[in-house]
Amino acid sequence: MPSRFLKEKYRSLAPYVPGEQPQERQFIKLNTNESPFPPSPKVAQAVTKAQVDQLRLYSDPDCTGLRRALADTLGVGPQQVICTNGSDEILAFCFLSLCEQGAAFPDCTYGFYKVFARLFGIPAVTIPLKEDFSVDLADYRDLKQTVFLANPNAPTGMALPPEMVGELCRANPDRLVIVDEAYADFALDSCVRLLPQYDNLLVVGTFSKSRSLAGARLGFAVGSEELIADLHRIRFSFNPYNVNRLTLLAGQAALADPEYFTACRDKIIATREKTAAALRDMGYTVLDSRANFLFAKSGKLGGKELYLLLKENGILVRHFDEPRIRDFLRITIGTPEEMETLLQVLRRVETMEGKQNENIH
Ligand SMILES: *Cc1c(COP(=O)(O)O)cnc(C)c1O
Repeated sequence: MPSRFLKEKYRSLAPYVPGEQPQERQFIKLNTNESPFPPSPKVAQAVTKAQVDQLRLYSDPDCTGLRRALADTLGVGPQQVICTNGSDEILAFCFLSLCEQGAAFPDCTYGFYKVFARLFGIPAVTIPLKEDFSVDLADYRDLKQTVFLANPNAPTGMALPPEMVGELCRANPDRLVIVDEAYADFALDSCVRLLPQYDNLLVVGTFSKSRSLAGARLGFAVGSEELIADLHRIRFSFNPYNVNRLTLLAGQAALADPEYFTACRDKIIATREKTAAALRDMGYTVLDSRANFLFAKSGKLGGKELYLLLKENGILVRHFDEPRIRDFLRITIGTPEEMETLLQVLRRVETMEGKQNENIH
């Protein structure tokens, strides 16, 4: 029950439900798309005792060093970059300030979009994905709303080629297209290179997944200088110190170690392909993932049932009890050893459940 002080309009707000973060039992944690690898060793080196002492001072509200490093990495100017407390924060700013005509996004996508739309009272239209879970951009061509596309999409993992996103931007230059690239590093492609052509494109990114910094909370957006200035206006009207000192250091240190980044990314991609092939061999339907997770459906067991069986066996994955995707599980790519354990457990529970069903009949 909400207190009597909560505003009427928030009383029915259904908040985002994050994946479980168990604090006690040790699970093989494949449920929130974190990296199985620690951040670059340069991150630990950057967070020194002297830097901890500096926590008495506010962080740099302009994120000067980090923005410069990020701009260099992405091949844009620092004025085209904004840093935030996780990319969820930048998405919140986008819904709050860049959706005059409402918002449009796919029916199966990142669950936070509809929560933000509700929170800020933005009318939202959901566009059904095609039968095979692909995005048909023709469905978006004539919309006036700001378009939100997670690319690769979550929870499907499927990706659109940036050229197609470019066509969508070209189709309506007065409509903003926001591409959420939380997983783009695992797709080896990004819409950032389209930015010189389209000033109605905003690309959102995060250090949470491919840079192993989920707990540090660091997100960013890249776009035209004008759009980024708009977003700074909102940020400075809300929390100018949104990125803390230790996170600024961690982010810069992570960017300063491209070899480590590439090595982790490539290991995850290789493990993804190997795991997908093994699951298909077992009769699973596995969507074509370009992310650090797989979206897969057993031929024999329902999604909820399989989720619970895995949990009993110490493995956490994500299950969404929603239309169209109930029978799927979203499985984060862990280490090769963790994925081997997952496959063993899946083989075992399928045989056991098969036996039990035989006994019943
Ligand atoms: C994980 C994720 C985010 C949020 O990332 P943070 O930077 O940790 O807030 C945004 N969009 C999508 C599609 C995600 O999967």
